[in-house]
Amino acid sequence: MSDTWFDASKCLIGGKWVAPQGGETLSLENPSTGEELSRIARGQKADVDAAVHAAEAALNGEWGAMAAVDRGRVLQRMSAAVLDKVDHLAALEAADVGKPLKQARADAIALARYLEFYGGACDKIHGETIPYLDGYTVYTLREPHGVTGHIVPWNYPMQIIGRSVGAALAMGNATVLKPAEEACLTALAFGAIATEAGLPAGALNIVPGLGAEAGAALSNHTGIHHISFTGSVATGELIQAAAARNVIPVTLELGGKSPQIVFDDADLEAALPFLVNAGIQNAGQTCSASSRILMQRGIYEKLSVMMAARYKELVVGPAEADLDIGPLISARQKDIVEGFIAAAKPKNILAQAQLAEGLPIGGHYFAPTLYGSISPDDPLAQAEIFGPVQAIIPFDDEADALKIANGTAYGLVASIWTRDGARQMRMAKKLRAGQVFINNYGAGGGVELPFGGVGKSGHGREKGFEALYGFSTLKTVAAHHG
Ligand code: NAD
Repeated sequence: MSDTWFDASKCLIGGKWVAPQGGETLSLENPSTGEELSRIARGQKADVDAAVHAAEAALNGEWGAMAAVDRGRVLQRMSAAVLDKVDHLAALEAADVGKPLKQARADAIALARYLEFYGGACDKIHGETIPYLDGYTVYTLREPHGVTGHIVPWNYPMQIIGRSVGAALAMGNATVLKPAEEACLTALAFGAIATEAGLPAGALNIVPGLGAEAGAALSNHTGIHHISFTGSVATGELIQAAAARNVIPVTLELGGKSPQIVFDDADLEAALPFLVNAGIQNAGQTCSASSRILMQRGIYEKLSVMMAARYKELVVGPAEADLDIGPLISARQKDIVEGFIAAAKPKNILAQAQLAEGLPIGGHYFAPTLYGSISPDDPLAQAEIFGPVQAIIPFDDEADALKIANGTAYGLVASIWTRDGARQMRMAKKLRAGQVFINNYGAGGGVELPFGGVGKSGHGREKGFEALYGFSTLKTVAAHHG
């Protein structure tokens, strides 16, 4: 795909679009058709090196000297520019990730909202004065880390760039972004938008490429001072090991096996759309997807029939057709998901969604599948499948629900559906998760709400003001004046 406002086969380094030094490109696929969508740069160590140096130069130049209020204004202009291009960004994301157009549009709007929020927050984060010994004045300064690395996956490029790069820029860091090799176009478009909106050269550098090449070069680079990563546990372990060698802070967001827990007294009609949508949105390729539905035995029969009926109405098709669900990102991801289905018992399948007629042959289509009567130790109830597959697990009482909900290696998000206020409070305290929702799921994805996990879901928080603390460091100044 050639576009008039950015060149997909180049890297953005120091405010300029440059070809990768190795001169190679990679093929980017449209998951709805299996056809090549674009060629992207195969960035490598030398390109990452150049990007880190450009970021250092930005910190020593205009970007590093810019007042917080002016950084905020730049981010606000970037936000407005994203909104101006919302339809264009949505079309790129739909073609690249395979997500239905309306979801891609929502992601572009979320990116603009992150930039608006963090643009507004730039000059509202500050240090403190600390009462101390007589003759001293002590205060703290909240400062950027310096150069921050951002390794982003393919499932929600725009949203993850917004919450990670947006917050890092707000605190005055200079950033190097490595988008995923499977979905790269909106990251590059974002680079063009940022440049046009007046972000100083080098504050945002983008090096597309393979994880084992550009990604590894970035995470191991001794010139970065913080790394933020969203993706698989296996890669997260490598990133954390690299950060440990360089002794830099790391934010890891590694997915989950997030439960929704429905008690007998819940409002089932209110819960139903959340129960299903949280599992199938973005074809289940969402770190906070709700892949486990815990149902108390008193409503198990009724609610599983309601969910199954909903599944049968869902239609899967190409992103551009804007149906309920698009394809999976790649043939590899489809193989992973189908592997889980092949290993599971067919008799537990309660319902499957429909595939639209006449689907393009090369697309990676998979019919969302709902399983009932799954035991808590079943692979369907333990592993992050990263596809539209949900497992219903029956439970007896509150203690049983807690044990099952907390019984995986992950802890990202959880929700409780009950009208009993005391139970809501008890469960919210005891659930092992970074976010707990009561009688909803996701709360509309608010950018204001700190997000991140415990256990294998990772550590550190993005979103909200909390991200601004994560993307900055604190200096204590103690002046002795007698
Ligand atoms: P991945 O973790 O390998 O890739 C995510 C990002 O990390 C990409 O930008 C990739 O280029 C980069 N990367 C890969 N190897 C790297 C390395 N050695 N050093 C530095 N960076 C590297 O994930 P994937 O292969 O795209 O997907 C595999 C599984 O990961 C999925 O099935 C799913 O379970 C999980 N996943 C989770 C999320 C999430 O949001 N939590 C996102 C994508 C994938």
